[in-house]
Amino acid sequence: MNENYEVNAKKLEEALMHIVKAMNAIVEVLPTKQPEAVRPRRGKSDWKFFSKKSLEELRLKISLSAVLSQYLKLTKRGKKCVAVCPFHDGKDKSLNIDEKNGEYHCSVCRAHGGGVQFMMDHAKMPFPGAIETLAQQFGVTMEVLNSEEHPVH
Ligand SMILES: [Zn+2]
Repeated sequence: MNENYEVNAKKLEEALMHIVKAMNAIVEVLPTKQPEAVRPRRGKSDWKFFSKKSLEELRLKISLSAVLSQYLKLTKRGKKCVAVCPFHDGKDKSLNIDEKNGEYHCSVCRAHGGGVQFMMDHAKMPFPGAIETLAQQFGVTMEVLNSEEHPVH
């Protein structure tokens, strides 16, 4: 009985070592720090559905550098602007701002998006709040639709 117990304990230890090794291997391939871009939960009550037309109008009116410069220090580099990326720890100006396409992209953590995405990820606003804030800033009147007729896909 004792012998069996010892054998089993050894086997168990071996198995555990395998698991520990496997877990270490997993930890090694995981990024050490996840980007902070955690989206706030979307409560049903504050969800609004905007017409595609007004969303498109807003997209065209948003000046990405105007939005980002409220939170980041932008530096001109050639025709584009760059900034220190707020989504990962680093001091390099790895965030590229493409004003023409209205998109930013970080070459290090690959954070990517437009003005609305930035307000959600950096200013931690829910989607409707981000839309309304930007609509007000850029003088766009948003058309709100009935949520039941227009479910989000
Ligand atoms: Zn980044």
